[in-house]
Amino acid sequence: MSSGDIPASTFRAAAHRVADMIADYFERVGDYPVVPKIRPGDVAQALPAIPPEQPESMDRILDDYQRLVEPNTTHWNHPGFMAYFAITGSKPGVLGEALAAALNANAMVWKTGPAATELELRVCDWLRQMVGLPSEFQGHINDTASIGTLLALAAARHQAPGLDIRRRGMAGRSDLPALTIYASEEAHSSVDKAAVTLGIGTDNVRRLPTDDGFRMIPQALEQAIDEDRRAGRAPIAVVGTAGTTSTTSVDPLRAIGAICRRERLWFHVDAAYAGSAAICPEYRALMEGWEEADSVVLNPHKWLFTPVDCSVLLVRDPDRLKAAFSLVPEYLRTKEAGVTNLMDLGVQLGRRFRALKLWMVIRAFGAEGLRERIRHHGALAREFAERVRAEPGFELCAPVPFSVVCFRATSNASPEEQDRFNERLLDRVNAAGPVFLSHTKLRGRFVLRLAVGNLGTTAAHVETAWRLIREATVGMQ
Ligand code: PLP
Repeated sequence: MSSGDIPASTFRAAAHRVADMIADYFERVGDYPVVPKIRPGDVAQALPAIPPEQPESMDRILDDYQRLVEPNTTHWNHPGFMAYFAITGSKPGVLGEALAAALNANAMVWKTGPAATELELRVCDWLRQMVGLPSEFQGHINDTASIGTLLALAAARHQAPGLDIRRRGMAGRSDLPALTIYASEEAHSSVDKAAVTLGIGTDNVRRLPTDDGFRMIPQALEQAIDEDRRAGRAPIAVVGTAGTTSTTSVDPLRAIGAICRRERLWFHVDAAYAGSAAICPEYRALMEGWEEADSVVLNPHKWLFTPVDCSVLLVRDPDRLKAAFSLVPEYLRTKEAGVTNLMDLGVQLGRRFRALKLWMVIRAFGAEGLRERIRHHGALAREFAERVRAEPGFELCAPVPFSVVCFRATSNASPEEQDRFNERLLDRVNAAGPVFLSHTKLRGRFVLRLAVGNLGTTAAHVETAWRLIREATVGMQ
């Protein structure tokens, strides 16, 4: 009978090979098309349908990885990846992931992960300082902003007076008013998903209109809260967005915060993408008022060069999160006093040691190095926006506060035909291979998005994107 892990010597040789493979990948990723030219099912077809009965050599497994996995990946670490929010799993972050896997620490409670717990709290506090939030905010790490927003809204639901939902639930209760949440029409769908998960329901998420800069209109918020209260509903929270998914607009956070304070509502700020930019004072100025929030979520895995997944939820009063979630079964009771047990702050019990990669990223680049990189991305986006602005037959569709440009080709054709043209334009550009852009709809019209956020992206890559866009436009006329 075999027992135990693979031999140390086998592991060492494979780990050296993996180190080379990763270094090679970083050097050559730009040679791949960003999106693999494959069809759905191609990968599945190449994989054995049944698991191996006998052990296979690490070399053979790694060969298959190189043959089947690496080339058939959409390369988020590609310098031509300019879709959605462009991101980077930087080299220090990759090293942090590897070491975290080796430790396999599960910081459910302090005792099961002392270093993981304390490093997580410290590195979140570094981030808090870097983005300029007040010292009372305490952060912890979740997988995604979707979960951060869910936890914040669960805490909001819990603090709403007289509901006692944690104990009594929501089903079958005639005493329970409809709970309502407010966010702009540009807010991320994770707000609706949180409403689904928390039993609030998507009908009770008020999607408020935005101004010509795609920002929530505070008067519309006040009016909606007032109408809901008059109708006997119970407003519980407002989600302001700092860096909306489509255009990266920033809601008027100061005004929203004042309304929340007056109306006694939880104020959550979704800064999943743009929050990282607040490490630069000039970008932080755009977040004015977020320090009034009860909670702020920001994703180092979006624009702080940390491999997916890593999302930091900063809460002004962690006791309010604990009140919503802390539940300690006997087997998890520990004796240490005054420690943070991370399981108390959310739904999950077990957790990976994500702080290690963020710690390594912040240390390897330094706050100033991170600022320079974010500024560089902003500058590349602005240069691209200038080209669009100056080119007849194109238009910018939204302001460019950070590193995302919304634009489209225009003509005298009907709006619907222009939409179809831009859709085909996007397909053509992406089919070429060197770059990958995405789209959105603004005020119902199809719009292209170019996002800069990968550490490998240079002016030459943005230039390539622009050349491909113009060539495709000419080719389609
Ligand atoms: N919030 C905003 C503004 C986003 O743009 C996104 C995703 O792009 C999310 C939240 C969801 O992020 P995650 O994938 O971390 O849940």
